[in-house]
Amino acid sequence: MLLFMLPRRSTIGRGPRISALKLVSARAVGSLPRLHAQVADISSDLENNASRMPPVFNKFGAKDVTPPVYPVATALPQNRDEFWRKVPLWRDVSTKEFLSYSWSNLVETQQQLYNFLQTTLPDEVPFDQSGMRMQTRDEFIRDVFEGITAATMAVRMTPYILSRINWHNPRHDPIARQFLPLKSRMIPDHPKLKLDSLHEEADSPVKGLVHRYPDKALFLPTSVCPTYCTFCTRSYAVGADTATVHKASLKPGRRRWEEAFAYIASQPQLTDIVVSGGDAYYLQPQHLRLIGERLIDMPNIKRFRFASKGLAVAPGRVLGGEGDGWAEALVGVSNTARRAGKAVAWHTHFNHPNEISWITEMAAQRLFEEGMMVRNQTVLLRGVNDDVATMKRLIRGLADNKIFPYYVYQCDMVKSVEHLRTPLQTILDLEAQIRGSIAGFMMPSFVVDLPGGGGKRLACSYESYDRTTGVSRYRAPAVIGRDKENKVYEYYDPVDSLPGRTG
Ligand code: SF4
Repeated sequence: MLLFMLPRRSTIGRGPRISALKLVSARAVGSLPRLHAQVADISSDLENNASRMPPVFNKFGAKDVTPPVYPVATALPQNRDEFWRKVPLWRDVSTKEFLSYSWSNLVETQQQLYNFLQTTLPDEVPFDQSGMRMQTRDEFIRDVFEGITAATMAVRMTPYILSRINWHNPRHDPIARQFLPLKSRMIPDHPKLKLDSLHEEADSPVKGLVHRYPDKALFLPTSVCPTYCTFCTRSYAVGADTATVHKASLKPGRRRWEEAFAYIASQPQLTDIVVSGGDAYYLQPQHLRLIGERLIDMPNIKRFRFASKGLAVAPGRVLGGEGDGWAEALVGVSNTARRAGKAVAWHTHFNHPNEISWITEMAAQRLFEEGMMVRNQTVLLRGVNDDVATMKRLIRGLADNKIFPYYVYQCDMVKSVEHLRTPLQTILDLEAQIRGSIAGFMMPSFVVDLPGGGGKRLACSYESYDRTTGVSRYRAPAVIGRDKENKVYEYYDPVDSLPGRTG
């Protein structure tokens, strides 16, 4: 169990700089490869049992296909911005080192986060937008740790995402706002909020397999991610336990995976599988291949996607070099699936244009050259991307990188993130303003994932929307079973957005 505790007051603000540097620098912090050791049990489990696994790919000879090997990035842009060097700890980190997967140092423990903030933050940061009121470094750090105590998600951030934050104004940075909880920002939850707001557990015939739509299922092989979003819909299961939530862990395990595969194969109406988590970036390459091979070998499965935020939070992994073969494994599965007449895609998750850098552009280009279909899902978040200019810039930035902007989601009604939700009216306005500004096939669908398990509906397809009470009502005629026929689903605007209320 990983608990984040507020460091004792006496230690804040006088932490020794040198020891902090030692703690956070170089390879001393957790790395993705080291954290992969957490799934070593399944590695040996799956590999030991490999000979007992059903033969796959025989008809396509895929086992003989050598995955593409990407060269170390040789054509780096001349005028590249080495943005990570603005972080004092990484001032001397070269481009080659930063892009190397073996250098993917995470900040995830209480001590690492504390040391990082101590060594990165200026003496004061703006508390309000105008900059008239300031917060000292110690006050900001205390705010973060109190936020962690109240949050449903643990904190974990990659060096890439940490480097994209403006640490001179972190309270108002659109990336920090997504991953770093601040107690002073939080407001009381809506009384209708639930931890598992989409009723995923209730719609799971097998643990870690959500079957809601007739033809599609969601397979959750793992419950860890390289970066944890404070607004995660799956906060009931994803990440380490927090002070407020004991997680319904979905650890990788051969028995659980086999039960999921058996269920998928037994349902002829299932044609489409989403492999998510957690984050598929946390699957080892051989496990990614294994899942891909099993799905390709099932006659009923016509298409599947791997859901991973990796391209947004650690794009260097795609560029090869000293990578670990994850992207090569994904491209290999996609190519094999294509030869078998099946479609594979990577569904990623960008929320703000600042998440896109020249590294992202290179990674996206490489995937494009390899024929990998990449689509994006964005979550609409207050203070992050809830204005027309930002959302337009994000959609265009994705489209220019051959990443299809697939969905913009109304933020789900999950706990502790009421300050990040917007009223339904915001998503309606955004769609109305943005439609027509970009080619239709690059225009995302603006949707609400209906609380209670009704699935995704176009936000504008509500049957009623009372802007005074903030209650919108939807039906989902295609989602049936478990007493869902004719069910009316309700979405509730945040209380502080209702007329006459303030935050
Ligand atoms: S990457 Fe996805 S699954 Fe992981 S914390 Fe973020 S929203 Fe949740």
